[in-house]
Amino acid sequence: MVRPIVVATGTDESEWASWPAMKGWPAFPLDPPGPPLVVAPHPDDEILGVAGLMAMLGEAEVVAVTDGEASHPGSTVHTRAELAAIRRAETDEALARLEVDGPVHRLGQADGGIDEDAVVAALVPLLTPGRWCLATWREDGHPDHERVGRAAARACAATGARLLEYPIWTWHWARPDDPDVPWHRARVIDLTPAAIAAKSAAIAAFPSQIAPLGPDPADAAILPPHVLARFARPFEVVFG
Ligand SMILES: [Zn+2]
Repeated sequence: MVRPIVVATGTDESEWASWPAMKGWPAFPLDPPGPPLVVAPHPDDEILGVAGLMAMLGEAEVVAVTDGEASHPGSTVHTRAELAAIRRAETDEALARLEVDGPVHRLGQADGGIDEDAVVAALVPLLTPGRWCLATWREDGHPDHERVGRAAARACAATGARLLEYPIWTWHWARPDDPDVPWHRARVIDLTPAAIAAKSAAIAAFPSQIAPLGPDPADAAILPPHVLARFARPFEVVFG
């Protein structure tokens, strides 16, 4: 299901923070059988979703499905090719700030037009039974996020890898107790102070997304402060 994600400012972080149910979700033990595979539809999704998890493990293998060239379709400052290059470099810098070792596999798919079957084909050789595969939730509300989530689910079913889905835009369009969200599957990863600091530094490595490219409305920040507030929590959430 694709939901309108650019609805005003979305759900304020203060609403989530005052939702009692969130404090009762089970903790998720960080005991992967090896480096997890983290699948990102766009550069920054992996950081917003699970940077703290990656920082605490100190290792991860990342699959960058697109280079995020469509973040500012009407930009008066950058071409799509320039944006792609900028965002690739931002991912590299963010992972360096997390001190995460591991390759980044760049699939170079079209931002806004991800080919689900091609993602499955790319993921299957990277997965083994029990390996953690973190991907955007299948119903996150953004078409690319949902295609990546479905592809990861199929690849995990085919290989016996363990699928863990991380929500991104869900925090924007959903509300506490939203019946469209599988809250019963929510698991919490509590972040250490070092991981919180590393995540904050990694998010700051994406100036193309957190700050305007220029004064034109087409160059506005994709992740303004009220959006970033949802990713400054001292914990991360996955659907297990
Ligand atoms: Zn995204």
